[in-house]
Amino acid sequence: PITPTTNIWHNGTLIPWEKAQIHVMSHVVHYGSSVFEGIRCYGQPQGAAIFRLPEHMQRLLDSARIYRMPLPYSLDQLCSAVVELTEANKVAPCYLRPIAFRGYGEAGVNPKNSPVEVYIANFPWGKYVSGEQGADVCISSWNRLAPNTMPGLAKAGANYMNSQLIRMEAEVNGYAEGIALDTNGYLAEGSGENLFLVRNGVLYTPPLANSVLSGITRDSILTLARHLGIPVVEQGLPREMIYIADEVFFVGTAAEVTPIRSVDRILIGDGSMGPVTKQLSDEFFGIANGLKPDRFGWLTPVNVN
Ligand code: PMP
Repeated sequence: PITPTTNIWHNGTLIPWEKAQIHVMSHVVHYGSSVFEGIRCYGQPQGAAIFRLPEHMQRLLDSARIYRMPLPYSLDQLCSAVVELTEANKVAPCYLRPIAFRGYGEAGVNPKNSPVEVYIANFPWGKYVSGEQGADVCISSWNRLAPNTMPGLAKAGANYMNSQLIRMEAEVNGYAEGIALDTNGYLAEGSGENLFLVRNGVLYTPPLANSVLSGITRDSILTLARHLGIPVVEQGLPREMIYIADEVFFVGTAAEVTPIRSVDRILIGDGSMGPVTKQLSDEFFGIANGLKPDRFGWLTPVNVN
């Protein structure tokens, strides 16, 4: 259940949480026509800071462009709106959810007569993938989005029908999460997380061509790895590569860095968090929590006092 905050940003103004409602005949309800973001605001010794805000809002603009959805706000305006809401609600740490969708007006599939509505909400959100000692996950029987069907680089609401199938199947079968393959059988990603493998000290992750979202956390981990001198390979990875990896972990805004203990009940390494995962995780959380220098300029400070 979501813990409500006070305000929600709607098309330029703050409205009460409980007033942020839409009509059942809105286009998005029937045809999944939304694009959205998920962003974390971290508590810091000096207050709070939003992690990689411009990168997230640029991806929202990119998602809207792919779907021919006109957003009447610039990157700067969207970033300011997120800061305004966070400072008004004074809840940190928190998760932020900007969303743009086709509203009420058109009954047909082409949304040309439906207004675009933009909302931003925030609320407290803790750990997303369960498993204190590392998550037990499975390879999903569902594939990730096939090329030229649902555009995987857009973070669109409709894509999460596929994610729901992956996640529900995994949980029904007693796993914390599922890893989907792409339609060629290569490793892709979790229902809401990018995937990393470590073998012989080399960090591997599937490339964007293999039906993965261009995750902001994925990009952060690649940047940190290069900075730490860890060799990085972005290439198509066969399914079985995961079973023989020394370390496997998920990354994402909600999942942050989540070590994976087993895949299909096969133990990864000795089942504990490996040294490369630990090094990257410490660096990631160190920067996010303001305990290490923000050397890549990833933080937008907010005043929540
Ligand atoms: N893949 C999918 C399918 C996701 O939903 C997410 C979460 N947005 C990610 C990867 C990770 O992306 P990010 O690090 O930008 O949150």
